[in-house]
Amino acid sequence: MGDDRLTVLLVEDNPVQARLIEGLLKRSTTPAFEVVHVDTLARGIQRIEEGGVDVVLLDLILPDSEELETFSRFYAHASETPIVILSGLDDLKLAGRAVEGGAQDYLVKDRIDGPGLIRSLRYATARARARSAEWHSPMFRLAQQQFLKAAHLMEMDDNIRQRLLFPERTLLVSFPFRRDDRDQVETVFGYRVQHVLAMGPTKGGIRYHSSVNLGEVSALAMWMSWKCGLMHLPFGGAKGGVRVDPTGLSRSELQRLTRRYTGEILPMIGPDRDIPAPDMGTDEQVMAWLMDTYSQQKGYAVPTVVTGKPVVLGGSEGRKEATGRGLVYLVEEAARRTELELEGATAVIQGFGNVGAHAARFLADDGVKVVAVSDVSGGLFNENGLDLEAVEAHVRENRVVEGFGDADSVTNEELLELPCDILAPCALQNQITAENASKVRCRILAEGANGPTTLEADDILASRGVFMLPDILANAGGVTASYFEWVQGTQNYMWTLKEINERLRRAVTAAFHRVTARAERDDVDMRTAALIEGAARVSQAKLSRGLFP
Ligand code: NAD
Repeated sequence: MGDDRLTVLLVEDNPVQARLIEGLLKRSTTPAFEVVHVDTLARGIQRIEEGGVDVVLLDLILPDSEELETFSRFYAHASETPIVILSGLDDLKLAGRAVEGGAQDYLVKDRIDGPGLIRSLRYATARARARSAEWHSPMFRLAQQQFLKAAHLMEMDDNIRQRLLFPERTLLVSFPFRRDDRDQVETVFGYRVQHVLAMGPTKGGIRYHSSVNLGEVSALAMWMSWKCGLMHLPFGGAKGGVRVDPTGLSRSELQRLTRRYTGEILPMIGPDRDIPAPDMGTDEQVMAWLMDTYSQQKGYAVPTVVTGKPVVLGGSEGRKEATGRGLVYLVEEAARRTELELEGATAVIQGFGNVGAHAARFLADDGVKVVAVSDVSGGLFNENGLDLEAVEAHVRENRVVEGFGDADSVTNEELLELPCDILAPCALQNQITAENASKVRCRILAEGANGPTTLEADDILASRGVFMLPDILANAGGVTASYFEWVQGTQNYMWTLKEINERLRRAVTAAFHRVTARAERDDVDMRTAALIEGAARVSQAKLSRGLFP
């Protein structure tokens, strides 16, 4: 669930007031509001019970109920949904008592303005979500289910299994940053989660997205542990994030947010402790600000505190492209194994960000025809192959693929069902599910994104003979090149792009062969084989270190 579209139930009997509020909310696009208006308590209760409401605006004086009783009766049916009270100036005491009783906030009717109203609704939703949804994330459930399946098959030591089911350290912060309009200070939630501390410093990206919560970050940290284990890297898994929509922020707002977030997680990170990197919604520039903020506190430049930073600050050649490049090296291996001729084969890519756009380019270099790509704005399809340079130029100018001329439009859902040889989901989690897996028509599924496929969908894809390159293998080129960057930084010795790409190819190809060998030996699917390879190494490390005290 994101913050970008909220359904508001407005329970208000005064038609003038209702029209005013609806008008103010209609003007907002981030988030966009859908307003459902009712004018009695009975209708309000009926509507909330139907479900699908994100937040409620409740007038306490209604034709069929008055004062605190209105709130109590409504709250009995909607204790999970955030409620903002609409109060008259004379009823402020009443509104205060409703807040004590469980309402999230109140607004004084005569003083309502657009920004204040929108903020109040956004905050009420965010607070309710923080209270109820932090650990209840489908993504964390998926990560735990996948791990338990692998742990069972590999007969993992039960004590270790319990220990690895949850991250070892988590930091949850709420912190402010100033908007460009200097009067507005925004408060957001941020996270840093370290899953396994046994294997060296922890390593993992930082995600800025409106759906980030503790469960999501914990799932990503857990996957990082298996990924580092699978790739034989001397790191445990970590991840960080801020629940914010970065596309709605200016560059200076993004910088202030990043610097403050870095300040908040400062005690947890460091070149020998925990090393962040880019993930969705963050990039080289964000890493540069993070490195600068950390270095300011130390009093000297500490480039090794992050990877994925600009080359001029000690970043590595080839890191930016490495996730997409590693994915394509793996597709080449998978094609060899499945006897797919890449020259003239077709590919469909969901997500045209760092991973997706680079994967598209490298696939095209192999002679693959990229027939469809997409991003948050929707998808493009051209059965003769897209002109990728032209799409990239369009995105540079317009931020999104929408509006590109030489292609038909498809939705993100339709895109996943296009017939193709290679399908690469490179955007969000939870894209291929029990609902659409039987309609996916590819030969190789290369998971650039983390967690794009549910367990039920895995079974359906396997029964249909799709060759799976699971996320912890398919997108491991990123953390592998990050490791190269860290090694170069700690040694102050820089490698050439050729050296990096050769080492990257060797590393991901070796991992591919470890996973296929394990899949054959244990008679398991590729995802389970990759998880077993990764988790076995983590488990061995933990057992070797023993238990303190
Ligand atoms: P990014 O922010 O550069 O790009 C994300 C892309 O996904 C954008 O094009 C965005 O518009 C699109 N998108 C967002 N919501 C979407 C939706 N609902 N439907 C379709 N497209 C949508 O992020 P990235 O770094 O390319 O990361 C993408 C995925 O790859 C994430 O799952 C991330 O965890 C994973 N990953 C990234 C790296 C890395 O090195 N950057 C490494 C490993 C894994």
